[in-house]
Amino acid sequence: MNIQNYINGNFHNPIQDDWLDNYNPSNGEVYSQIPNSSSEDVENAYIAAKSAFPSWSQTTLDERSRIMLKISELIEANLDRLAEAESKDNGKPIWLAKAVDIPRASSNFRFFGNAITQFASESHESVGQQAINYTLRQPIGVVGCISPWNLPLYLFTWKIAPAIAAGNCVVAKPSEVTPMTAFLLSEICNEAGLPKGVLNIVHGLGTTAGQAIIEHPDIKAISFTGGTATGAHIAKVAAPMFKKLSLELGGKNPNIIFDDCDYEDMLITTIRSSFGNQGQICLCGSRIFVQDTIYEQFKKDFVNVVSKQKVGHPSAPDTKIGALVSKPHLEKVLSYVDIAKAEGGKVLYGGKQIKVEGYENGYYMEPTIIEVQTDECRVNQEEIFGPVVTIMPFTTEDEVLQIANKVKYGLSATLWTNDLKRTMRMTNQLQAGMVWVNTWLMRDLRTPFGGVKDSGVGREGGFEALRFFTEAKNVCIKY
Ligand code: NDP
Repeated sequence: MNIQNYINGNFHNPIQDDWLDNYNPSNGEVYSQIPNSSSEDVENAYIAAKSAFPSWSQTTLDERSRIMLKISELIEANLDRLAEAESKDNGKPIWLAKAVDIPRASSNFRFFGNAITQFASESHESVGQQAINYTLRQPIGVVGCISPWNLPLYLFTWKIAPAIAAGNCVVAKPSEVTPMTAFLLSEICNEAGLPKGVLNIVHGLGTTAGQAIIEHPDIKAISFTGGTATGAHIAKVAAPMFKKLSLELGGKNPNIIFDDCDYEDMLITTIRSSFGNQGQICLCGSRIFVQDTIYEQFKKDFVNVVSKQKVGHPSAPDTKIGALVSKPHLEKVLSYVDIAKAEGGKVLYGGKQIKVEGYENGYYMEPTIIEVQTDECRVNQEEIFGPVVTIMPFTTEDEVLQIANKVKYGLSATLWTNDLKRTMRMTNQLQAGMVWVNTWLMRDLRTPFGGVKDSGVGREGGFEALRFFTEAKNVCIKY
């Protein structure tokens, strides 16, 4: 099956007729071809978006909302098909795609389709000066949305939905590794009656198609989710053109466990926050710090529960951990096990590639727990983005706060304690864009989402996203 670019409501082969192989990570086989698009394809997408903008930006909020809610419904109606496609493209268990990825993609359209009808701007009466100021929130024009492979449709729609809700037209590029559901979304957009050119999807490599989007002088805002190095590159390219940027980047998030926590709840959630989606979630708590009073107990229980997590084919209902997204990524993750050993880390569980019967060429790996002696080793500092966690004991609150903050990243943090004062002190001081207390990855789409330090710039989510995708213009009227 060939994936095609979606430009001006139509499906196109890449102009240069150049194609890339798309792999199924569960068996290592090529199962489709995707356009290796060039800057000419991106230019065509830009032209379509530009022509659609005058009409879309003037489309009433009710009408925009109606179309977006229709897209949301159609995503829901296609749940099984989309979940199967996501699982095949990414390697994640089908049940996970059905329970999380696809419902969330539908919610993104529903949420922003509704949010735009509630979005408001401010007015300021200049008392004593007989003037009133009000702020217009105007769409930017043509914007670029670039997303990664770990939560393909979930993150792709997280950007596109607020962008179009706010009246922009979009040139978007999903990860070249997981393009399938973005392609299926384009069919859904046509069925929902999204006007031609409002959303344009160009498939291909980051370094060519993605680069053409970020370099385009008239694509005035870029919303990007991906690795920190790519984010830094995008910032460099975009800066001289004064583009608006929202960068959601990597993480190396602490999971801090105190001895007064609800132990069972913590243990079950820690399995999820360590190995959910094969550990390929930017919010995974990949550095686990456990208070020394319960460290030995935790170690024993954690290894025991992790050893029961079935690694298997994504279509098997009892599979807890599916395939990693690609061969190079599997190799990268495995290389960190060697790095850990060389650094004096002790592999408490896992660490090896797995051959799943019948799918021997798939990219499977054991969930892996590494006990580290110091927080300063590479496995504790660098984002691995796979089913690998480190664990380490701590004694005091001050000590764990210091090591939790001693990384270049600052995306999220998780805290397990029932002590209210400690919760207040620590949530204030943890360097992160999001802190979960006694839970993990509980999302409310109204909340600001993003990181500090090398985890990014800007916030998405709720009205923050609508603010990002609009320009504020103040109007001052003297009367
Ligand atoms: P990458 O940074 O490699 O790629 C992300 C996207 O950017 C892909 O679509 C990629 O295309 C594209 N891209 C690559 N180079 C360029 C370029 N020069 N110009 C424009 N676009 C480019 O990240 P991954 O796909 O490997 O995703 C994993 C990373 O994403 C992890 O670091 C993870 O932490 C982060 N992430 C952050 C989240 C957050 O909200 N903070 C959420 C989820 C993931 P292609 O795939 O074709 O290379």
